[in-house]
Amino acid sequence: MKERLQTLLGRIRKAAVDCGRDPQSVRLVAVSKTVSAERVREAVAAGVDTLGENYIQEARAKIEALAALPVAWHFIGHLQSNKAKYAVRLFELIHTVDSLKLAAELDRQAARVGKTQRVLVQVNVSGEAAKSGASETEASRLVAEIAKLAHLSVEGLMTMPPFFDQPMKARPFFGALRRLRDTIQQRRLPGVDLRELSMGMTGDFEVAIAEGATLVRIGTALFGERR
Ligand SMILES: *Cc1c(COP(=O)(O)O)cnc(C)c1O
Repeated sequence: MKERLQTLLGRIRKAAVDCGRDPQSVRLVAVSKTVSAERVREAVAAGVDTLGENYIQEARAKIEALAALPVAWHFIGHLQSNKAKYAVRLFELIHTVDSLKLAAELDRQAARVGKTQRVLVQVNVSGEAAKSGASETEASRLVAEIAKLAHLSVEGLMTMPPFFDQPMKARPFFGALRRLRDTIQQRRLPGVDLRELSMGMTGDFEVAIAEGATLVRIGTALFGERR
């Protein structure tokens, strides 16, 4: 695990340096869906400090089992409004807000527990029907609406491009997310600073970093193939 993590962090660092970015500006979210609590513990012992989970129920059990570990948990899966209550209790950052309905429910639940919930807006830049995420136009509107909610803090955008066997083919989608971020930033909405771009997985994180990713969500390269 130690070796795998060091190799992965080395690749992340190299990708940043190769495009003239500060390596510190890219952080690893270790994606631990289907990975046992014990293996997550090993990863944390090796130096992982941020974990990404996709399913509330699975995450709940794991986070409880590992409550003593000094790590941040991020939610990266599709979130239904009726699970917002749990998401707010469990996660520091939710990457996948894609509707005002969900945002409003997260705001309500965050208010109940006296928390400011950090969120990203998920954007479907490819427009594939099967993918969740707001369209670019909706995303822009959604950021402005979330900015008005007292218990949410919108800190960036997230996307998942279509799957390609050649990572370069995903690059235009990452570029599109960065340009959308820049366009929204130019509106200077009060309280909005979209500093995070959550993009890039095992197969394509290097090109995502070249397009400005600040959070790379990587499972397979660290934990091996999922069963
Ligand atoms: C599973 C998953 C990842 C990690 O994918 P790998 O290819 O294993 O690195 C990243 N992001 C999301 C949203 C995922 O569901």
